[in-house]
Amino acid sequence: MSNPGFHCITFGCQMNVNDSQWVARALEQRGFEEKPLEEADVVFINTCSVREKPEQKVYSALGRVHQANPRAVVGVAGCVAQQIGAELMRRHPQVRLVAGTDGIAPTPDAFVRLLHEPKLRLSYLDFTDSFPDRDPYLLDAAGQPAQDGVTPVAYVNIMQGCDNFCAYCIVPFTRGPRKSRSTQSVLEECRHWVARGAGDITLLGQNVNVFGKDKYGDGTSFPELLRQVAAIQGLRRIRFVSAHPRDFSQETIDMFAELPQLMPRLHLPLQSGSDSMLKKMGRGYNMERFLGVVEGLRKARPDFALSTDLIVGFPSETEEEFEDTLKAIDSCGFMSSFSFCYSDRPGTRASAMPCKIPHEVQLARLERLQTLQNERAEAWLRTRVGLETDVLLESPSHKQEGQNLWQGRDPWGDPVNVLMPEGEGRPGQFVDVKIEVAKKHSLMAVPVQK
Ligand code: SF4
Repeated sequence: MSNPGFHCITFGCQMNVNDSQWVARALEQRGFEEKPLEEADVVFINTCSVREKPEQKVYSALGRVHQANPRAVVGVAGCVAQQIGAELMRRHPQVRLVAGTDGIAPTPDAFVRLLHEPKLRLSYLDFTDSFPDRDPYLLDAAGQPAQDGVTPVAYVNIMQGCDNFCAYCIVPFTRGPRKSRSTQSVLEECRHWVARGAGDITLLGQNVNVFGKDKYGDGTSFPELLRQVAAIQGLRRIRFVSAHPRDFSQETIDMFAELPQLMPRLHLPLQSGSDSMLKKMGRGYNMERFLGVVEGLRKARPDFALSTDLIVGFPSETEEEFEDTLKAIDSCGFMSSFSFCYSDRPGTRASAMPCKIPHEVQLARLERLQTLQNERAEAWLRTRVGLETDVLLESPSHKQEGQNLWQGRDPWGDPVNVLMPEGEGRPGQFVDVKIEVAKKHSLMAVPVQK
């Protein structure tokens, strides 16, 4: 008899991707095998409510699943599950498991039970009273690193939830209050990943700068955590996301000068270049403060690269306020950005604000902003040509065309395709390269001897 099959469908941020990968590993540990949607016995849908029309996306995914595989047991998790709750099971009888953002840990065992108990339905929607820790599932039964391949790049959650209640954001409602994970548990997971070949680890949380500063913290600050992660033998690259500009301490800035493992690249969400908009958004900083952080980072590492998030057409945004955001792209020197039109999220302060900007005005502004940002992103990649640096190889490129082409990332997180000599290259290998060509969204490089 073949093993039961699972299939994951994931929407949203890196934290969701991370959660889905964990569920996949945990199911494999329980004897499941990843299969195409049509052949899966259980389907895990991990949802996000940050982007537009989140509920419709989930309902249309449920429709697709039902059409492709009406016999599968379906579990819905994440932010939309947290918001809609058990109503999802009523509206879609195929859904037999609903798990909120703190309910991921029991999900794999729940799927096992659901397969054996056809009448059972389960929901895990309460926020837990501490960081919802879970087994890393990275070791085999003998306690050795799992042999099923190397994972060059890994993501480790260090906290969950957020207390900031920025005016537009649903996250504090769907992910609950801020909860730091214990330092020991973070370090253990990082060590597991390094033992499995990870050379690049990203620490994840909604606002990592305040790690340890909630009632669940164990006294370790974020800069101290960075020091301890950097001390792990064999780990060459550390990154973190998301950082809140308001809470970015000088001590954290100093870490970029102190720790060579900390990569000179940061995603620092600005949201708007206008002080009045930032105030209405409830971000807790102004442009002067933001530019101060940027200056500090560039002083610590002159080769620093910054990306950001920008919201266009927040309620009452004037043309001048929007143009302040355009100016900020250059004053902050962002090499890339994620930009979106503002849209209401139920229950947030911004959803009750007057003076909503018409959608066609939002779209016209977004297009102007993205045109400018695309030019800056291409210009950034062009500055890389001729540079000698190192690339962490992740996997053979899909665009092989008879060549031994590998895809990887440089220290700034840029995607780089490396033309390796025949028969060479392995996932997790660091290769010294020279950047030869800048394409629209990636770089091409060849190995060099150092
Ligand atoms: S800091 Fe603001 S934008 Fe970020 S998750 Fe918290 S509430 Fe949302």
